[in-house]
Amino acid sequence: MKTYLEFRQKRIENKATCKEETTNILQEIDRNKHLQAYIKVNENAVNEAAVADKRFEAGNPGPLEGMLVAVKDNISTRSMPTTCASKMLEKYEPVFDATVVQRIKAAGGIVIGKANMDEFAMGSSNETSYFGCAKNPVDTSCVPGGSSGGSAAIVAAGLAHTALGSDTGGSVRQPASFCGVVGFKPTYGRISRYGLIAFASSLDHIGIFANNIEDTALLLDVMSGRDDMDSTSANTPNTDIFNAISASQQTNSNFKIGILPERMLQCCSHDVLEVYYEYLDKIQKSGGQLHEIEFDCYDAWVPTYVALTTAEASSNFSRLDGIRLGHRTEKNIDNIDIVSLNRGEGFGDEVKRRLLVGTYIMLSNPSLQYYAKAKQMQQLIKKCYAAAFDKVDFIFLPTTSTSAFKTNEKNSDPVSMYLSDFFTTSANLSGIPAISLPLGKSKAGLPIGMQLQANLFEEEKLFAYSKKITR
Ligand code: GLN
Repeated sequence: MKTYLEFRQKRIENKATCKEETTNILQEIDRNKHLQAYIKVNENAVNEAAVADKRFEAGNPGPLEGMLVAVKDNISTRSMPTTCASKMLEKYEPVFDATVVQRIKAAGGIVIGKANMDEFAMGSSNETSYFGCAKNPVDTSCVPGGSSGGSAAIVAAGLAHTALGSDTGGSVRQPASFCGVVGFKPTYGRISRYGLIAFASSLDHIGIFANNIEDTALLLDVMSGRDDMDSTSANTPNTDIFNAISASQQTNSNFKIGILPERMLQCCSHDVLEVYYEYLDKIQKSGGQLHEIEFDCYDAWVPTYVALTTAEASSNFSRLDGIRLGHRTEKNIDNIDIVSLNRGEGFGDEVKRRLLVGTYIMLSNPSLQYYAKAKQMQQLIKKCYAAAFDKVDFIFLPTTSTSAFKTNEKNSDPVSMYLSDFFTTSANLSGIPAISLPLGKSKAGLPIGMQLQANLFEEEKLFAYSKKITR
């Protein structure tokens, strides 16, 4: 298991160099090409590592000096492709770095490459990628999850220290759970989304994959904080969680922990429930008190998510017409049909399905009003969470109802694929921070993650308790 913290310590003690580490990881990437986890590898990484070595030698390394970060391919990187795993943006190279990438580079981090994903972050398995599905390193016949499946596979296989993903309905936490790594989604507004190619702007978050809580905290501390380039960025300073959790030896664990009523766990496999109950027991033994939370409207979580995301996507994606941006057909045509040809050729089936649903939802027919109803539902979900956090410190629940499924298993059944996001979408709809922790294994040896959710902007408390649980 590769962690940046361990490498940094070795680098400080002169037992390793950034150049060696980068060369080794590049070789590993080459050996693991069959995982299809990267869309593009940074050819200049070794030179950048040499610069990082100089800063260590001069005694002034940045907080992420020499950290090798894989960046999901929907986060803009200057002079590197940002394809969203779509034919539509296959040739797109942004002229700027996303704010998170700028901040990582300024702190000494190195973008080691661009990670595979579901096309435009729409999916739960990585199977909608135009470049082919990334594989789960634990069992390559299984999916790594999605949509940030490449990022999760990369961290699990040691092909970078950490990775960035995006989480609109669970796309960081679900693949983290399937691949056995930590996956964190912040409070909405905590991390700037400037440069993240939008799927559904009101629910999109940039999140982090790592092999431990400390590396996750280091990245969050660097990436968080107000950004004037993102109008939804919260006016809060950078977090300082790494120092806070390193300093406090004894974290209080007498917390009130919210749990779901049994009927909400019916969809879970036996393996998942086993890990869940094992940890409920541990939580209680370490002083946690369990409180059952009633979520009145939980059966509306996924439908609300689907209505809002497809509607927002249908609006966001109108600029991808192959005239202003995106794939241009090679057919010789010069009339209005060119847009439908560009989009017809450029988008895969899942994207088309969602854009059609979203366009229907946005119809102005007054008898439908799906979007308005979904917005009302979202307010209710937010209220439910606010009421829950009046009573408890955290909510503990599975990240996914099963461990990783087989490639092609759910491909022909989009509804069952959507329902697999049952435990993750509510954190996006309410904007709260949530983390998936690798806490167990199925009988077949596949990773199982459990989720811890906290109140808005309570990341420090969330990380401290996560550290306690994973110890
Ligand atoms: N699996 C969910 C979906 O397909 C979540 C996607 C995401 O978070 N980007 O919509």
